[in-house]
Amino acid sequence: MTSSDSCFAQMLNLVAAVQRDRLRQSGEASAYVCECNDPGCRRVVYLTAGEYDDTRAHAGLVLAPGHRLLTAAELRRTSAAA
Ligand SMILES: [Zn+2]
Repeated sequence: MTSSDSCFAQMLNLVAAVQRDRLRQSGEASAYVCECNDPGCRRVVYLTAGEYDDTRAHAGLVLAPGHRLLTAAELRRTSAAA
């Protein structure tokens, strides 16, 4: 990761934090991209700010229902099939 990547990631996190503060007040859900390591996954998960905080505190990652971190062997099979 370059320093510009890091700055961009920090800016996105700041924007997301500001948005979460706004959503926390409204109780609305927001869209998050599934953070599983399947390179083909583009699932979107809708969470309220409270659900997002609970997910981060307990599971660490935002994952779509039924999604999980794939093992190295599973990732090799996934990339071989692509
Ligand atoms: Zn996923």
